[in-house]
Amino acid sequence: MELIHDVKARVFKFGNKKADGNSSMKNLLGGKGANLAEMCAIGIPVPPGFTITTEVCTEYNLLGKEAVIELIKEEVEDSIANIESSMGCTFGDKYNPLLVSVRSGARVSMPGMMDTVLNLGMNDDVVLGLIKKTNNEQFAWDSYRRFIQMYGGVVLGMKPASKDDVDPFEEIMDHLKDKRGIKLDTQFTIQDLKDLVYDFKDAVRKQTGHSFPTDPWEQLWGAIIAVFNSWNGDRAVYYRNMHGYPAEWGTAVNIQAMVYGNMGNNSGTGVCFTRDAGTGENVFNGEYLINAQGEDVVAGVRTPQQITKLGSQRWAELAKIDEADRLENYPSLEELMPSIFEELNGYQQILENHYRDMQDMEFTMQDGKLWVLQTRNGKRTGAAMVKIAVDLLKEGKINEKEALLRLQPTKLDELLHPVFDPKALKRAHVIAQGLPASPGAATGKIVFFADEASKFKNSILVRIETSPEDLEGMNVAKGILTARGGMTSHAAVVARGMGKCCISGAGALNINYKTRTFTIDGHEYHEGDWISLNGSTGNIFEGKVETVEPELSGEFAEIMDLANKYAIMKVRTNADTPKDAKVARNFGAQGIGLTRTEHMFFEVDRIKAMREMILADTVKGRKQALEDLLPMQRSDFEGIFEAMDGLPVTIRLLDPPLHEFVPHQLATQKELADEMHISLQAVKNKVAELEEFNPMLGHRGCRLGNTYPEITETQTRAIIEAALNLKARGIICNPEIMVPLVGTVKEFEMQENIIRSTASKIFEERQDSIEYLVGTMIEIPRAALMADKIAEKADFFSFGTNDLTQMTFGYSRDDAGKFLPVYIEKGILKVDPFEVLDQEGVGQLIKMGTERGRSVKPQLKVGICGEHGGEPSSVEFCYNTGMDYVSCSPYRVPIARLVSAQAAIKEAMR
Ligand code: ADP
Ligand code: MG
Ligand code: MG
Repeated sequence: MELIHDVKARVFKFGNKKADGNSSMKNLLGGKGANLAEMCAIGIPVPPGFTITTEVCTEYNLLGKEAVIELIKEEVEDSIANIESSMGCTFGDKYNPLLVSVRSGARVSMPGMMDTVLNLGMNDDVVLGLIKKTNNEQFAWDSYRRFIQMYGGVVLGMKPASKDDVDPFEEIMDHLKDKRGIKLDTQFTIQDLKDLVYDFKDAVRKQTGHSFPTDPWEQLWGAIIAVFNSWNGDRAVYYRNMHGYPAEWGTAVNIQAMVYGNMGNNSGTGVCFTRDAGTGENVFNGEYLINAQGEDVVAGVRTPQQITKLGSQRWAELAKIDEADRLENYPSLEELMPSIFEELNGYQQILENHYRDMQDMEFTMQDGKLWVLQTRNGKRTGAAMVKIAVDLLKEGKINEKEALLRLQPTKLDELLHPVFDPKALKRAHVIAQGLPASPGAATGKIVFFADEASKFKNSILVRIETSPEDLEGMNVAKGILTARGGMTSHAAVVARGMGKCCISGAGALNINYKTRTFTIDGHEYHEGDWISLNGSTGNIFEGKVETVEPELSGEFAEIMDLANKYAIMKVRTNADTPKDAKVARNFGAQGIGLTRTEHMFFEVDRIKAMREMILADTVKGRKQALEDLLPMQRSDFEGIFEAMDGLPVTIRLLDPPLHEFVPHQLATQKELADEMHISLQAVKNKVAELEEFNPMLGHRGCRLGNTYPEITETQTRAIIEAALNLKARGIICNPEIMVPLVGTVKEFEMQENIIRSTASKIFEERQDSIEYLVGTMIEIPRAALMADKIAEKADFFSFGTNDLTQMTFGYSRDDAGKFLPVYIEKGILKVDPFEVLDQEGVGQLIKMGTERGRSVKPQLKVGICGEHGGEPSSVEFCYNTGMDYVSCSPYRVPIARLVSAQAAIKEAMR
C-alpha cells in the first residue's frame, strides 16, 4: 500500500483505495478511523477523509485549544485539500461546495457516547451553491437545518437544560409540525426548512449571545475541539468508568466528505450486521430508511425498514402488519433496491471474512450509489458471543484457540442468569409485543426516568426512546422497554452491549411521562406496577413471571468442553450445601474448594444446639451440645460428598467468632434461657462476654479449635464418619480438612494432631479407613511469610484472599464501604481490592507463599478460595502463579473455566 505521508504524523489520510493507516492502528486512530482506513485499502467505497490521532486529543488536554490548532493546522489544511481534489469540490466554496462530517472515534466503540457533526461547511451562500449543484432545494435546506441543529447541540451547547426540558431545536420543529398538521421531518416543505434555518439561528443567537458561525474553517475547528471535549463529557466518562477505560486514551477525530442519504427517494441510510447480534444466528440483517441521514435510523424518528426480505417478513409478523401493507409501506431493501442490496450483501461478506468476526456496519446510498461509512466488530449478547465463536470455528474461519480467546469471560454471566419458567410463561398474560431487541428474561417495576431506575430493587425502564443520557439508568434497570425505535435503535444496541434484556418499538404503548403511566388498548399501567419482558420474543407480560435456573447446553456446552481441552488449572466451587454443590457440578466444577461449616449451624434446628454449645460453662456441657450437632453435620457432609461423587471436597473447620451465633434480642435470649434452664441474666452475661472490639482479629478461626479442641474433634468426626458411610455405599471421597486462620506453625500442628488422632480413633472403631488430607488456609500475612515451615506439616494450601486482602491492606471489609468508594473516585485505588485481586501487593504474598511452600514440598497442592477465584484477571494471575485450582461461587464456575483455558493458551503463545 502506498503511504501518503510519514507515520509520525498527527493526521492520517484515507480515500480512493489508499490509506495511511490500517485496522491494527486502533490505539492511534481510534476504532472508527483505523477501520475506515482498512476498508479504503481493501477497496470498499468509503468517502475520502482523514483522521486526527488520539494522541492529539491528549495533547489538547495538556496544551489547550490554540496550541493544538497550531500543531495540526498545516496537516489539516493539506488533508482537506486532498478531499477537495478527490471529490472535485471546494470547502466553503459558493458554487461547488464540499461539506464534511466531523466524527469522534475512540479505541473501542462507545455507541452514541461522543459527538458527531454532519454537513459541516454550510452557510447562507453555500446552501445556494449546493442547490445549484444538485438541483435539489429540499435536500439542501434539509442539510442546512440538520447542520445547525447538530452543530448547535454539539459545539454551541444548545441542549435541554434538564430532563423535563425539551431540546430547543426539537421544540421549534414540533411547533412547526403542529402548526402545519404534519408528523414527520420528511413532510416539511422547502419553505418550512428555510423557516427552520432562520428560527434555529435566531434561537442560537438568543441562547448563546453570539451569531451562528458562518466561516467553514471556524466551524471545522469548533467541531474538532468539541469532539475532543466530548471525551471528557459526562456520558463518555460514565461509559469509560463502567468499562474501566482510562482517561488517557483520548478520542480520534475523523473528518470525511459528506455523502447524502437525504437527496430524495433514491437515497437513504442504514445500519446492518453480518449476523444476528442478539442470538448469533448467521443471517445478514439490518435496517434502513429512505431519504434520511445519519442517526435517523438509530434515533427512531421514523419506523425503519428491514434490509432483507426475510427480516422484513419476520418483522411484519411481530408488528402484525399484513403482506400487502408491508410491501407497500415497508418493503425491504432487497425488494426495493435489489442491485444496491446485492452490492451491500457482497461488502458484508467481504468485511466479515476480512475481519473474521461479526461486523456492524453503517452505509448510505446517495442517489443510487452505495457508500460504507463504518464497520466494527459488532457488540453482541453473551449468547450471540458464544454462538458466533462456535459457528466461526465450525465454518473454519477461526481455530479452537481463537474461538476461546474471542470470548469475553464476564459475558458468560448473561447465560447463567435465570430464564422464564416455561410453565409460568404459559399462564402469563401478554399485554403487548415489541421487537426482540436484546434477549433475556426481566421482571420488575415500571419506572419512566433513567435517573430513577434505582428507585425499586428490580425496575424496568420504560421510555418512548432512550438516549445516551439514559445510560446509567439502563445499566441499573433489569430490563428496558421502548415504544419507538427498531432493532438498531440506541436502546437496542446499548442493551445488547450490556447483555440486558430489551424490547424496542412496542408501538402499542402510549407513554405519558407527566402522569408516569402508559396505556395499552385503554388499560393503564403505573409507575411501580410489575411487568415482565421476554427479550427473545418481544413479549411484554403483566405482573411478575417466575424464573428458573439456566442450563449449560448447546453451543455453551460445546465451548465449555473446548475450554476443558485447553485448561490446565482446575476449577472448583465454594459450596456449603448439597444444592450448591449440584448447581456447580452442572456448570462443570471439578471439586469443592471451600465448604464453610458455620453456615450449616445457622439453620433453625441447629442454631439452638450451637448456642447451647457456646453458652456451656463446662467442657462437659459443651461436649453434650456438640454431640447433638454431630449427626446433623455428618448428614450435611454426606449430602455434599454424594453430590460431588468422588471429586475432591475441601471442608473448613469452624471459622467465625462465636459472637455471631448468640442471640442479641431480648426475646430470643429469654427463649434460650428458658430452654437451658438458666437465668436471662446468665445469657446476657455470656453474650456480653463474647463481645469483641475487633471480632475479625479476635477469637476465631483455629483459635477456636485450639481453645475448644472438642469443636475440632466433633467436626473431624462428622467429616470422617460421613466419608466412611459413603464408602460403605460405594462412593469414595477423600476429604481435605482445612484449618482456618493459621499464623504460626504451632497453631496448625495442634489442630492437625487433634484431627489425625480423632480420625485414627474412628478408623479403629469402624475397622475401616479412608484417605484424607489436612491442610491450611493461607490468609494471615504471617502464614505467607512462614509458608516453608507450615508446608512441612500441611498437605495443601488454600489462599483465603478475602482475609488476606483485609489484613494486608488493613482494611476491615465490613467498614470499607465508608472509604473505598471515595478512594476509587479519587484514584487512590483503581478498583476494589476485595473484588479484583491486588496482584501488585497481596499478589506478592501469594507468590511468596506458593514458592516457599513448594520449596520444601514440590508437589504441594495450592489453590485459592476467596471471592477472587471467579474474577477473570485474578484467575489468570492464579494460573500464572502455578496454582492447581481456583475455587469460586457456583455461578462463576464457567467463567473461571474459560479464563483457565485462555490463560493456558496465552502462556503457550508467549
Ligand atoms: P457514532 O459513533 O455515534 O455512530 P458516527 O460518527 O458514526 O457516530 O456518525 C453518526 C451518523 O452519521 C452515522 O449514522 C454515520 O453513518 C453518519 N455519517 C457520518 N459521517 C458521514 C458522512 N461523511 N456522510 C454521511 N453520513 C455520515
Ligand atoms: Mg457510527
Ligand atoms: Mg478467612
